[in-house]
Amino acid sequence: MKLIATLFFFYLSANSITDTKVYVCGKTGAKKYHYNESCRGLNACSDQTVKISLKQAQNNGLTLCGWED
Ligand SMILES: [Zn+2]
Repeated sequence: MKLIATLFFFYLSANSITDTKVYVCGKTGAKKYHYNESCRGLNACSDQTVKISLKQAQNNGLTLCGWED
């Protein structure tokens, strides 16, 4: 299951190269995305920070971090 999720993630990433990039905490389980890589909301992240497209984040149901606009 974890492998499938990872493959799905890379599949989406490959399709979104030209989109606006955002940052999320970890490959799965994040509920917020961030425009700023050094955002205070990401400082609390204990997983790796992952760069994805804005469209991908929204398609995955993520919402903008409360610390940002
Ligand atoms: Zn943020």
